[in-house]
Amino acid sequence: DKGLEKSKENFFGKLSKAVAGKSKVDDEVLDDLEEVLVASDVGVKTTIKIIDRIEARVAKDKYLGTSELDVILREEIAGLLSESGSGEQKDLISEKKPYVIMVVGVNGVGKTTTIGKLAHQFKAQGKKVVLGAADTFRAAAIDQLQVWADRVDVPIVKQSMGSDPASVAFDTLQSAVKMDADVVIIDTAGRLHNKVNLMNELSKVKRVMQKVIIDAPHEVLLVLDGSTGQNAFEQAKQFTAATEVTSLAVTKLDGTAKGGVVIGISDQFQIPVKYIGVGEGIEDLQIFNKLEFVDSFFK
Ligand code: GDP
Repeated sequence: DKGLEKSKENFFGKLSKAVAGKSKVDDEVLDDLEEVLVASDVGVKTTIKIIDRIEARVAKDKYLGTSELDVILREEIAGLLSESGSGEQKDLISEKKPYVIMVVGVNGVGKTTTIGKLAHQFKAQGKKVVLGAADTFRAAAIDQLQVWADRVDVPIVKQSMGSDPASVAFDTLQSAVKMDADVVIIDTAGRLHNKVNLMNELSKVKRVMQKVIIDAPHEVLLVLDGSTGQNAFEQAKQFTAATEVTSLAVTKLDGTAKGGVVIGISDQFQIPVKYIGVGEGIEDLQIFNKLEFVDSFFK
C-alpha cells in the first residue's frame, strides 16, 4: 500500500519513532529529532535553530515530556513560516490595474503549470487575465503556455522562439492596458547557467515593463519544486541574488512526504510562501495557510 508507505516515512512517523519508549526530551531525543528534521528537508540551518529553541525550553522548564514535543514543535515551526496569500495581497490586486506578476524559476519545477492554475483562479474570481510568454528560449515553453491559455481560456501574448523576452513583456503589458485587464502573468526563462546573464535578463525585462507601467512588476513569484530538497534551497539562493523575489510558490507537495523545504526556505530567505502546488490538475493550487500546512506536516 503506497499510501501507508508514505505515512510511515513522513515527519510525524519518523518523529514518533524517535521518541518511542522515551518519556522525557533528553539529548538523545534531540539528536534524533535533528536527524528527522534534516531528513525531512528542513535544511541544516533551520534545523539547528529549531533544536536550539527546544533546548532552551528544556533548560528553562528543567523537564519536557516527549508527549509535549509535538505541540511545541508545531508552535516553533509555525513561528518560522510566513504566509501572504490572504488579506493584504487581495487588496493590492484590486488596487493595481493591471496587477503584474513576473514568474521566475528553473525549467521543470512547474512554472507553466502554476501560471495556468493561477490564471484559472483569478478568472474564477471574475478577473480579466492576460499571459505573457517571455520564456522565449524554448519553443516548448511557449507552446505549453499556449496550451494552458487555451485550457483556461485567457489571452496570451507571444512572439517567436528566440525573440527578446523584454519585448514580449512590453507587448503583453501594452495589450493588457488596452484590454483593461486586471492581472498580467509573465513567464520568464529559467536558465541558471550563468548568474550574471540571469540577473541581466530579469532586470531588462523589469526595466522594459516599467516603460508601460511604472511600478511593474508588483510581484515576483519564484516557483520551486518542493520535492527537490537541497536543489530548491540552491535555486532560492540564486534567484534571490539575481532579482528581488517577493513571494514563493512551492510545487509538487503532493508527491513528497517531506515538504520540510517550505519551512527551511521560508525561514532562511524570509520570503512569504503564497501558494503550494498539490497536483497536476487545474484546481491543484492552494493559497498557503501556515496552520493547515503545519497540521498536514504532522499527519
Ligand atoms: P516548467 O518547466 O517549470 O514550466 O514545468 P511544468 O509546468 O511544465 O511542469 C513540469 C511537470 O511537473 C509537469 O508534468 C506538471 O504536470 C508537473 N507538476 C507541476 N506542478 C505540480 C504539482 O503541484 N504536483 C505534481 N504532482 N506535479 C506537478
